[in-house]
Amino acid sequence: MLAKHSSTYTHAPYWLEDTSIAAAPATFRRHALPAFADVVIVGGGYTGLSAAITLVRAGLKVAVLEAGQLGNGASTRTGGMLGPSFSKLGASGLERQYGRDQVHASIKESLAAFDWLVTFIRDENIDCDLQICGRFRGASHPKHYAGLVEQATALAKIVDFPAIEVSPGQQHGEVGSNRYYGGIVYPTDGAVHPAKLFRGLCQIAQNEGAMLVEQTPVRNVEKQNGQFTVHFDNGQITAGHVIIATNGYTNGAFSQFKRRLIPIRSAMIATEELPDQVIRSVSPKLRCHGSTERLSVYYRPSPDGKRILFGGRAFGRGDRPDLYSQYLRNFMVRLFPQLAAVKIDYAWSGMIAYTFDHVPHIGELDGLHYAMGYCGSGVGRSNYFGRKIAQKVLGLAEGRTTFEDYPFKGRPLYSGNPWFLPAIMKWHELADRMGW
Ligand SMILES: Cc1cc2nc3c(=O)[nH]c(=O)nc-3n(C[C@H](O)[C@H](O)[C@H](O)COP(=O)(O)OP(=O)(O)OC[C@H]3O[C@@H](n4cnc5c(N)ncnc54)[C@H](O)[C@@H]3O)c2cc1C
Repeated sequence: MLAKHSSTYTHAPYWLEDTSIAAAPATFRRHALPAFADVVIVGGGYTGLSAAITLVRAGLKVAVLEAGQLGNGASTRTGGMLGPSFSKLGASGLERQYGRDQVHASIKESLAAFDWLVTFIRDENIDCDLQICGRFRGASHPKHYAGLVEQATALAKIVDFPAIEVSPGQQHGEVGSNRYYGGIVYPTDGAVHPAKLFRGLCQIAQNEGAMLVEQTPVRNVEKQNGQFTVHFDNGQITAGHVIIATNGYTNGAFSQFKRRLIPIRSAMIATEELPDQVIRSVSPKLRCHGSTERLSVYYRPSPDGKRILFGGRAFGRGDRPDLYSQYLRNFMVRLFPQLAAVKIDYAWSGMIAYTFDHVPHIGELDGLHYAMGYCGSGVGRSNYFGRKIAQKVLGLAEGRTTFEDYPFKGRPLYSGNPWFLPAIMKWHELADRMGW
């Protein structure tokens, strides 16, 4: 039984409170919106900002309408771990359904997407602590190690993506825990400071002339005579095109998207500042970390190397830091008993969006352009898909993506309220205990 930890943490993302690097995104002035914009983007996270940058650079008049504060969705709450997110794309189910060629093309495109974002950050000089630190994925059960190696071998036949096998005997060079049974290192994966990346995107978009408008929830979009009227409280704007970039925060205003997404809350904690030897006793090479459990956790040192940032599932309805901070801390201490006396300074959560086929989706529905459903791996994907959807609006051939070939399906009688999640979580809990 682990001790209950004191609840003196700040309930806010570490990234925004991190005053030593002043990452808090600036507050944007409320623009007096014009009557017309070429493109209205609904949602001010990575997807929306990335799309806005591509569109204003092409000379279009662009307004980004954000319900709350810009970036206050998942984009400044994320762990900032960056990789190609092959995720379940290699799964045989997808191959059976869509064919090997299509799935392999998507795997290759995922690597290209990751490379694109790294190059974009460097070319634009975005100061966001980009580190190509690599990622260790630990086998959480003895049976999982062989599967990890198999997966890496299969991937290597499709893409040039280096992976290093780490046997159980070698794993202490990668992770200071006895709870793993070997693992794989993906040395080319990376990490960013998500709020600094977001601030960089906002600065570029605003400098290039995009109108970034906060506190403006969109209530409804009507299509008439080939144009759209976008309604928000106390006003409306006409647009040639509309992009929906609302991901895990998609609400009833866009029920056609809501019913295709499974919103899930993900949570994180940040420890107090720790000496270098304690940080390295967790992550000797200062990498990002994940594992093979179904209800997996992820963790990394903060960019300044002083804290451990640890994330995983959240509990209950709504944002319940009292529940998830305790759960995550207990999980962390089970993996790393050396952290038993460590204080938690921050706890926060945010919404991600899963899809029924575990694939992110991009395209056009009811005349509305959209990019969403990143299934928890959205830092790279949202930036890349935001650019792609903008290229589609511009009618450019570069807007073509293999991901538009996967139909974006909901389920009969499902309207966007994932009532089935608690049962699925219980099942995953059992499977994790049994090592299935
Ligand atoms: C705790 C946590 C940890 C994560 N860790 C990682 C990680 O380590 N690596 C990784 O790759 N991914 C991670 N993710 C996922 C990643 O952060 C997201 O996939 C990504 O940020 C999605 O960006 P987005 O712009 O599409 O959506 P968001 O950033 O969520 O933005 C959507 C915005 O739409 C706005 N909105 C919704 N409805 C309306 C409306 N009607 N009108 C106006 N605005 C509206 C919302 O207010 C919100 O600001 C994590 C997510 C969370 C929550």
